[in-house]
Amino acid sequence: MAARMLAQDFDVTVLEAGRTFKPLAVPLDKLALLRPTGVYLDERMIQLLLPSMRIDRHPEMVMVYGRGVGGTTTLATGNAVRADEGLKHIGINLDEEFSELQHELPITTDHQRFWSPITKQTFDVMREMGFDPQPMPKLLRPKQCRLCGHCSIGCPTRAKWDTRELLEDIRVITGCKVTKIDIDDRQARKVHATKGWQHLEFEADIIIVAAGGYGSPDILRASGINCQPRLFVDPVLCVAAPMAKVHQDRQLLMPFVSRREKYIISPYMDWLSFFFNRSWRKPMDGMVSLMIKLADVEEGDVHHNKMSKTLTPLDHQRLQEGIKDCREILMRMGAKEHDIFLGTLNAGHPGGMLPLTQAEATTLHSPLLPNNLYVCDATILPQSLGLPPMLTIMALAKRIAKNIIAEKG
Ligand SMILES: Cc1cc2nc3c(=O)[nH]c(=O)nc-3n(C[C@H](O)[C@H](O)[C@H](O)COP(=O)(O)OP(=O)(O)OC[C@H]3O[C@@H](n4cnc5c(N)ncnc54)[C@H](O)[C@@H]3O)c2cc1C
Ligand code: SF4
Repeated sequence: MAARMLAQDFDVTVLEAGRTFKPLAVPLDKLALLRPTGVYLDERMIQLLLPSMRIDRHPEMVMVYGRGVGGTTTLATGNAVRADEGLKHIGINLDEEFSELQHELPITTDHQRFWSPITKQTFDVMREMGFDPQPMPKLLRPKQCRLCGHCSIGCPTRAKWDTRELLEDIRVITGCKVTKIDIDDRQARKVHATKGWQHLEFEADIIIVAAGGYGSPDILRASGINCQPRLFVDPVLCVAAPMAKVHQDRQLLMPFVSRREKYIISPYMDWLSFFFNRSWRKPMDGMVSLMIKLADVEEGDVHHNKMSKTLTPLDHQRLQEGIKDCREILMRMGAKEHDIFLGTLNAGHPGGMLPLTQAEATTLHSPLLPNNLYVCDATILPQSLGLPPMLTIMALAKRIAKNIIAEKG
């Protein structure tokens, strides 16, 4: 988003570590035929079929992120939620930017007419139980959607919007991994990168680090800028039950959402668990799965692309509350208590290691950074969201780009 905005005034080049994104070429139902052979041993195997999806295994959870043009948004389920409570709290008002995004992007809740009977039933049950479910705003062109349920492995029809669309007229150098930035006299001078065996250097008047909450801290530290061990990841756990022939696998993922105090609940077919978790050996069309997405305590670190993070007792307590809610919903839908099973704990919203503070509410620029270096991704979010972050990151990127244009354009 920042590249797109700045391209109006500047000559912009994007250095991207990954390649052009290509969705999974083999349909999931074909891959599922191999499940009985026991070939699916480790989540990292997905990278062989879908190189833009990266998976890191950690003792407590699996980390999922995108590496390629469009970043993690290519794997997103297209949820477009305003999640700026923490930013408002420190005095950042992004009303104008959110309103612009509403006009510029295909955000819609007009997908209820496509909901299948099981989605409607889950919605009705949750409403009766007082969970106040609300249709999820989606970055979606409903007419192009085939309801294939593949949203988190790449949309085959481009019905789902992702940030590749912002880069269409912008110079992107792919396979180009940034390693560090030379800083001298409070100015960022040069970007160092590797492309295959080559070492490349780029000079620029303004440099924006946007390698994601998992990638930016490494670049910043290598450049001499301290980050804080405040990594959050919004852990996700699915709670599921067998239900014959309901076909939750052929639905938009996360069609509606119930917001609880520190987590959300939303229907979600969890492909990672379906292929790699032994408790999930059920037919693809024969289960209902609910996701808990938690706003975790901001404690953790990432070094050389490896995460060190342990969920706190408070995180575990909140997860247990979510599991209890999901169990009650599934049982009200007819599931038997002893049939309910859990998915693999995973996470896909890393951020928070150079958090914005009240003092930076106008500039959105940390005093630790040189004057012409900005960070423009989930790294600057001040607190975990427990909500989809993409729209809020784009609103921040817009404001940062406007500030740069006003100052230096
Ligand atoms: C399965 C899944 C579903 C999701 N669904 C949603 C959703 O529906 N809605 C929502 O709001 N959010 C969703 N998210 C989260 C959302 O996609 C991310 O929070 C968001 O994309 C983060 O944006 P970012 O700019 O911080 O990082 P990213 O989108 O991860 O972008 C970072 C980019 O930097 C590149 N990069 C990394 N290191 C380097 C380097 N050293 N040099 C050069 N380039 C580098 C990466 O390849 C990538 O292109 C989902 C995440 C996952 C995993
Ligand atoms: S369900 Fe619709 S939006 Fe999702 S991947 Fe399939 S076609 Fe794309």
